[in-house]
Amino acid sequence: MTGQEEECPYETYKITGKLYISGEIREASLLIKEGKIALLGKSLPDMSAPTLELGRYEVALPGMVDLHVHMRGLKLSHKEDWYSGTLSALKGGVTFVADMPNTVPPTVTISALEEKLEEAKLNALVDYGVYFGVPGKLDIYLRALNKGIIGLKIYPKDYRSPILMKLIKINSERGLITVLHAEDPEVEDKNRLAEVSAVKYFSKISINHGVRIHFTHISSSETVNLMLISKLKGAKVTFDITPHHAFLNEKLRERLGGIAIVRPPLRDEESRVAIYNSLRNLIADAYATDHAPHTLEEKTSEKPPPGFPGLEVSLGLLTTEVLERKASWRIIDLYSSRPAELLNIPKGKLLPGFDADIVVLDTKRRWKVKGESFLSKAKYTPFEGWELRGIISKVFIRGVKAYEEGEIFVKRGFGKMYGGHFGEN
Ligand SMILES: [Zn+2]
Repeated sequence: MTGQEEECPYETYKITGKLYISGEIREASLLIKEGKIALLGKSLPDMSAPTLELGRYEVALPGMVDLHVHMRGLKLSHKEDWYSGTLSALKGGVTFVADMPNTVPPTVTISALEEKLEEAKLNALVDYGVYFGVPGKLDIYLRALNKGIIGLKIYPKDYRSPILMKLIKINSERGLITVLHAEDPEVEDKNRLAEVSAVKYFSKISINHGVRIHFTHISSSETVNLMLISKLKGAKVTFDITPHHAFLNEKLRERLGGIAIVRPPLRDEESRVAIYNSLRNLIADAYATDHAPHTLEEKTSEKPPPGFPGLEVSLGLLTTEVLERKASWRIIDLYSSRPAELLNIPKGKLLPGFDADIVVLDTKRRWKVKGESFLSKAKYTPFEGWELRGIISKVFIRGVKAYEEGEIFVKRGFGKMYGGHFGEN
């Protein structure tokens, strides 16, 4: 299973052992065929296909799906590019990334989209999708849809766009995700009130127009409560939370300075606990890194830009919770099946018909987070020194072994684009 053959990279084989299936760990076997999971069963029919037997302490999880990352590239390649960013994803057990449009140039024109897609196609190691930003004109968006974008990203500066409602409606009709950064630009206090105000406003829009809106990086206790109320009122709203808002609080800024600067900012402990509980109790709809690399020089400057890398610690933080018995295995769904459903891609589950994206986790081993060993260009992290449980020993993407114990087995350009499934009409 080298995955290197040009002709037919897809082999037929079985994986047997402990598998994460529908919320629990079960002893079972998978048959992988042509990049897909073909069969799942306690025992599979006798066949000559080679078998990968998982070790006693190994568990096979679906590949993680991250619906909010910044791969940078283009004119921001000094921060990260499609190769280093997807390398970082692969090592972290993330087999699908959805890239945000605030690049240079921003992904709000067809030429900028084409440029980005070309770069991604040549360099990505894991599968990916690309969001479009709010463009100046509606017809640009319609053309972008036909290019196969994964969804729309709305920033606070776009709230007053005259075509905003039309874009949200189009996406909703086509089953494409609309991801919203909730921060009302008119609220002076950039802290929690700005998030509360934006969530109230767009939840009302969702109810009144019956449209789907996904709120990203929800960060405060008030907004988690508001999301629940909105859902009860019938709003078609969903939300994700980040690892840093679930595990870190604002006190870290005193110690780490610019490294800990992020938007939305790290909150107080009350909000941190609310976000953590929304993860542990499966109240959030998804868990997403907001992997946002910058150079160390930028982060330690007078005016540090918001964000830091997250892809190499995100799954490790979850498996640590599970292996320490603080949370159930089901929290894995928030980083696999649920974001895959939101993005409408055939990933995130070890079930027949889904892509054979598989992460083999060695539950016995532990590791210490060290920014300097990251494969991302950004070699620092607010999680520096954390002891995590569970090592990712192998990663398969569409059935092809892409990673094993630090070694990469796929080439630049292996990653495949997903999106635009509903772009025909
Ligand atoms: Zn972001």
